[in-house]
Amino acid sequence: MIPVERITAARGTTLRCKGWRQEALLRMLENVLENGENQEELIVYAALAKAARNWPSYHAIVDTLKTLEEDETLVIQSGKPIGIFKTHRFAPLIVMANCNLVGRWATSENFYRLQEQGLLIWGGLTAAAWQYIGSQGVIQGTYEIFQSIARMHFGGQLAGKFILTAGLGGMGGAQPLAGTMAGAAILCVEVSEERIDRRIKAGYLQRKTDNLDEALAWIAEAVQEKQSISVGLLGNAADVYPEIGRLGIVPDIVTDQTSAHDLLYGYVPSGYSTAELEEARSKSPEQLQRDAGASIAREVEAMLAFKARGSIVFDNGNNIRSQAQQYGVERAFEIDIFTEAFLRPLFARAIGPFRWVALSGEESDIRAIDNYILEAFSDNEIIVNWIRLAREHIPVEGLPARIGWFGHGDRTKLALAVNQMVRDGKLKGPIAFSRDHLDAASMTHPNIMTERMKDGSDAIADWPLLNAMLNCSSMADLVTIHSGGGGYAGYMTSAGVTLVADGTAEGDIRLETTLNNDTGLGVLRYADAGYEESIDEIARKDIRWIRTN
Ligand code: NAD
Repeated sequence: MIPVERITAARGTTLRCKGWRQEALLRMLENVLENGENQEELIVYAALAKAARNWPSYHAIVDTLKTLEEDETLVIQSGKPIGIFKTHRFAPLIVMANCNLVGRWATSENFYRLQEQGLLIWGGLTAAAWQYIGSQGVIQGTYEIFQSIARMHFGGQLAGKFILTAGLGGMGGAQPLAGTMAGAAILCVEVSEERIDRRIKAGYLQRKTDNLDEALAWIAEAVQEKQSISVGLLGNAADVYPEIGRLGIVPDIVTDQTSAHDLLYGYVPSGYSTAELEEARSKSPEQLQRDAGASIAREVEAMLAFKARGSIVFDNGNNIRSQAQQYGVERAFEIDIFTEAFLRPLFARAIGPFRWVALSGEESDIRAIDNYILEAFSDNEIIVNWIRLAREHIPVEGLPARIGWFGHGDRTKLALAVNQMVRDGKLKGPIAFSRDHLDAASMTHPNIMTERMKDGSDAIADWPLLNAMLNCSSMADLVTIHSGGGGYAGYMTSAGVTLVADGTAEGDIRLETTLNNDTGLGVLRYADAGYEESIDEIARKDIRWIRTN
C-alpha cells in the first residue's frame, strides 16, 4: 500500500475535507512526510520517529479526515486511527496518544518488541503529531544556544570560533546553518554521504569532504579570517573526535546531534558499513548495541577531554551522556545539558519554539507575517533579530513555515493578528500554529528538559499530562501525548498541540484560549519549581497563580 507517487502536501485553496480545520491537519500530515527522512518507512526523523503506524493506518487517517465532520473527534493510538466520536464544534478534531508504556514496562527492549509486533510506534516529538517542519524546526533553538554561549563565554560573538559537532539528520541538519548564522566555523561529522548531500541541496550546509586534514584546514582558515563556514566531514564521530583531540586541536564549542538515543537504529558504531549494519540489526542486535555503546563511550571520553582543555561542551538533547554512562563513562554527566545551561531562563518565562505553517503553500504568506512581526514586536530583540536572519538565510522546506521563540501573551497576539489577516484576505490561505513538545509546560525529560530543576521535580510527568488536558479543554484542534521510544523509552513524556487560524470568529476563541493557557501553565510550572523569572512573569502578566509554597 506504499503510494506510487511521493507524498507532498497539497497546496492552494481547494478543500478535500469538510472544512479548513480538517484540511489543515491533513496537510500537516502530508507535510511531515514531504519533509521526512524516509518516506517509504513513514519515518520523519530521529532514526525511528514515525508519522503513522503503517501504510494502511496512513490511508485510513487520510480517508477519515476527508469525511470528518467538525463536531467529531478522531482518536489515534500510536499512529493508528481507532474510531470517530461525536463531540461538539469546539472539541479537538483529533486526540492522540503515542508510545506511552507504564513505568516498569517502559524499556527499549519492550518498545522494540511491541514495535516489531506492530502495536505501537515512537512518535518523536513532532513526527506522529504532524508538526515537524523540516530541519528549520529546531534551527532557532540551536541558534539561541550558540548565541547564549557567545554571550556567556565569548564576549557576545562567535566570529573566529570553531564549533565541532556530529549528525546531519532531520534535526541535526539544522546545526551547520545555525552555526554560520551565528558567525562561527562549524565542522559536522556525518557517516552518511547521502545525508551530507541532502543538507547541501537544502541550503543548510556549504562544503563537504571525506578528508579530516582538508576539513580542519578549511576551518582553520575561516577561524583565522573570522569568516563563517560550515563543513560536512564524511566520517564516524567516534573516530573523528578522538583524532582531533590527538592532533592537539581544541574546538571552542563541542556537541553532538547523532541519534545517540537509539543504539539499534540510530547511532552507527565505528567500523560498520551500511550493509553490515543492516545485517547486524537482524542477526546480532545485542552485539550491535554493545558496539554502538562502546563507540559512544569513546566519543564522550573525547568530549570530556575537550572540556578539560577549555572547550564549552554540551549535550544537545540526544541522551548521549546516559548511553555513555551505561557503557562505562562515569563522568559523562559532567557535560552540561543545553536546556539547563543555556535556555532555562527563556523557558521559565514560557518563551519557546512556536511555529506557523502557510497551508496555501505560498511563501508570500510567511513574508507577510514576518513583516507584521517586525512592526508589532519591534521591542522584542530576540524575535526581531531572528526574523531578520531567518528571512535572509532559511530556505523553504515543504509548506512554507517559520519558527519563532515567542512567550506568554505574544503567541496569542501573533495568532489573533494572523487570524484577522486570513479573515481580511491578506493571506492566501489559513495558517496552522503549533509548538515543539520541548516547551515550558509540555515536557518532562529528566536528562533533557527538566534536568536539575530547582525543586528536584525533574521526573514528575504530571505537567505534560495536565498540559494536554488543559489544551483539550481550551478547544485546540489537535492534542497529543507522547512518551519515549527506542533509547528514550522510560525517559520522557510530552504533549503537543496544533491550532488552525482559519479566519473565523470561532478560530479567535480557540487560538486565544489555547495559547494563553498553554504558556500560562508553562509559567506556573516553573514558578512552582521556584524560578524567579516565572514569578516575575506572573507579576507582569495576568496569570492566576494559587501560591501555596
Ligand atoms: P536522524 O536519525 O534523522 O539523524 C541522525 C544522523 O546521525 C544520521 O544522519 C546518521 O547518519 C548520523 N550518525 C549516526 N551515527 C553517527 C556517528 N557515529 N557518527 C557520525 N554520524 C552519525 O536524527 P535527528 O532527527 O537529526 O535527531 C538527532 C538527535 O537529536 C536525536 O537523538 C533526537 O532525539 C535529538 N533531538 C534533539 C532536539 C533538541 O531539542 N535539542 C531536537 C530534536 C532532536
